[in-house]
This record gives sequence, C-alpha cells and structure tokens, in this order.
Amino acid sequence: MNYELIILGGGESGVGSAILAQAKGFDVFLSDSGKLKEEHRQTLIDYNIAFEEGGHTEEKILAAHEIVKSPGIPDTVPLMQKVIAKGIHVISEIEFAGRYTDAKMICITGSNGKTTTTSLIYHILKSAGLNVGLGGNIGASFARKVAEKDFDYYVLELSSFQLDNMYDFKANIAVLMNITPDHLDRYDHNMQNYVDAKMRIIRNQTVNDAFVYWVDDPVVTREIEKLKPSAALYGFCETKKDNACAFTDNHKIFIHAKENVFSMEQELLALQGMHNLYNSLASGIVAKLLDITDENLRQSLTDFRGVPHRLEKVAIVRGVQYINDSKATNVNSCWYAMQSMRTKVVLILGGTDKGNDYTEIEDLVKQKARALIYLGADNSKLHAFFDGKVPDTHDAHSMQEAVDKAYRLAEKGDTVLLSPCCASFDLFKNYEDRGDQFKECVRRL
Ligand code: ADP
Repeated sequence: MNYELIILGGGESGVGSAILAQAKGFDVFLSDSGKLKEEHRQTLIDYNIAFEEGGHTEEKILAAHEIVKSPGIPDTVPLMQKVIAKGIHVISEIEFAGRYTDAKMICITGSNGKTTTTSLIYHILKSAGLNVGLGGNIGASFARKVAEKDFDYYVLELSSFQLDNMYDFKANIAVLMNITPDHLDRYDHNMQNYVDAKMRIIRNQTVNDAFVYWVDDPVVTREIEKLKPSAALYGFCETKKDNACAFTDNHKIFIHAKENVFSMEQELLALQGMHNLYNSLASGIVAKLLDITDENLRQSLTDFRGVPHRLEKVAIVRGVQYINDSKATNVNSCWYAMQSMRTKVVLILGGTDKGNDYTEIEDLVKQKARALIYLGADNSKLHAFFDGKVPDTHDAHSMQEAVDKAYRLAEKGDTVLLSPCCASFDLFKNYEDRGDQFKECVRRL
C-alpha cells in the first residue's frame, strides 16, 4: 500500500502529527528507526494508526507524497538523502499543523531563552483569560492540540530545526530572543546557515504582523538591515534606545506599544537576572500587542513561577544557596547565569562539549568562581582551559561526587551553581535528569 503522508520520527511531534493527519482523513504511516516510547506506541495503537519502529521500509517512505519529519532527524542521514534526491516535499510538524488552524500564532525562537519566554507569554495570556494553547518544543505537541482542541491563540517555542522545514506557516507575532552559536554540527559548522534558519521566523510576515527582537544583538540587527522585514518592529534592550520600545530606566521597566506606556518596578519582576529581564520585556511587548491590561500584565510578570532547570533555586544549606541551571547547555547561557550571581560561586560545569569556546566566561569565572568542579566523562578540555586561572579545580564523575565536593568547598554566603555549558549525554539521560539528580543530592545534604 502507498501512503500519501509519511511521518518520520515517533516522538511527541510525530505522534501528534499522525493523530492530526488521521483526523483530517489522510492515509498516514509513521516510521521510526529506533524504539518508540511505550506511551507513544500505545497511543498509535489506540488511534489505529499504521506504524513501524526499529527501522524504515524505504519503498513505503520514498513513495510518499509528503513527509512530516521530526526536528531530531538531520538531512545528512542516508534515508533523508534519498528523500531529498527524489524531491519529496518535507515539512515540519509546525508547518503541517499550521494548515489546520486559524488561531493567532505567537512564535518564539532564539539560541537561549526560548522556553522561559514561551512559558511566561503563555502564563500572561492564560492568566488574562485568553483561550490559548502552548506548543512547539514544550509539552504536548502543537499538532495534537490542533487535532483535539480549538484555541484562539497558540504560543509556540520553535527551534531552528523546526524552522528549517517551514514554508507557508506564518507567525502573527514573531519573537527572536538572540542568536549565538549553537547546534553548528547540524549546520555544516557554518554560522550563517544557523542564522538563516533562525531568521525564517519572519518568513511570510506582512505589515499587519509584529517582529519582537533584541536590539543589542549584533547578528539580529545585521539581518534586519539585510532582510528588511515587512512586519512592524518592536525592539527591547536594557537601557533606552531610539529603536527600542521596551527598556529599563531608573529601576523601572517601560513598554511603549499601541500608544500605551506600561511601566513597573524592575525589582517586582518574578524573573531576576539580566537575561530574564530580556525575557520579561519581550513577553511584555507581546502582551501589550494583544491588549492585555496593564493590571493583568503587572500581576503575571510578578507571580510567574519560572521554569525548572533554569536558574532554579533549590535550597539553602548552611548558608550556601544551591542553584540548578542544568538547561545551560551552551557557554552563552552559563555567561548569563554567572553574570547574575552576586556572591562567590562554586561552579559545576562540564559534559558533552559541542565545540565550546570558554573564553566568553573566562573573566566572570576569574572574578566570581571560588572553585570549579568539572563534571564529565572527559574533562581534559576544561582542565586545559581553566586550570591555573581559578584557585581550585576538581574532577567529579557523578552528580553525587560533584555535590559532595561543592558542599566541602563552598563557604557561608556562597552559591553553588550547576550551569554546565555542555550537553548531558555523557553521564545523564538528558538535562532534566542531570538537574533532577542535582536537586536530589542537594536535598540529601
Ligand atoms: P532555551 O529554551 O532557548 O534553551 P531556556 O529558557 O530554557 O532557553 O534557558 C536556557 C538557559 O539559557 C538557561 O540556563 C538560562 O540561564 C539562559 N537564558 C535564559 N534566557 C536567556 C536570554 N534571554 N539570553 C541568554 N541566556 C538566557
């Protein structure tokens, strides 16, 4: 049998796409080269959707009219090379699901800050009573929600991989937090390829749409000059500038949008630290563009509870604050974490290095680190870079060992910060597992 729609990858987005495809009457087949998670397999069986796992049947896949590909599958794998050579149209889950909803789309991308900003925008809109769904890289997939719910607004977190396979989809409000090197292994080690993927967030936007961006990001501003977006531009930055509508002044934040000026005390923001200021400002602009009242916005920016594993305060033990920033999987996010520290720090870092250049955090580490604990299977690069620059460095090969060492090294008033700069796959299942183990070990101290 030939299927008209093939889904490659049976994770959250693939299974969601299969459910939506079936609801829309497609002949759909899902194929995954690996083993499916039990819950995903069961869902496919419950919905009576045809699938295979542990390998691809190429004839079926290459006979497809269109393919929805999981963002986790690179174009370099042999099957994708054949798909591309055959000229089969390959789209992302977001492109597919976007065809079946008229909801207003608020889409957030960037190298860092996506999940925090997406969650904060969702919190603001939901608290204000809008009929809003959350999707993209967060929680249940966008496609599944489109199949089963009827929202007026969607707040979507989009990775560069999802943007890669988007063509007709349009964000009514696009938010681009920043662009710093990440995932270059998937972009032929060419930064511009990664930048181009991120800039697809403004694709198809018209004068009636909005583009929210960080005006101090040199990459983004250069791209704006080059691409001349059609959408109305709304910039944010730390201190007042001509091209920014959101900024701080005299310990207050200001957002100028739609002939309204919103302001509130900066110290009331639930999210603290410079990077989080950007996340709050970007979210505030979106809220004002959607006519959220000043009262509702102020309340939501104040009572947002944050997202686990992002500068998450775990506990104070014997006068030492323990902070879990396990999601800091690149050097830039560790920079922001270190920058927001007001005390001496015992920094736990290390893991799977994605071609990191630690120069970016060198000064902050020299200023603030009392000790470094290298937590990885192979710490040689960290030794080579930091040894001799920081008073004390140690190796750890498990979270328990890292936390025990940190406990001994930290002095009263210090912070123990897990902000690894690296992926977690050498010693942990994923960054959540790494953060959970950290919290567990801290709570047992
Ligand atoms: P993403 O979803 O893009 O990975 P998160 O919101 O999960 O972003 O945050 C990831 C890490 O990046 C956190 O450790 C946090 O400290 C840092 N971070 C959060 N927001 C920003 C920002 N606007 N700029 C730079 N770093 C940030």
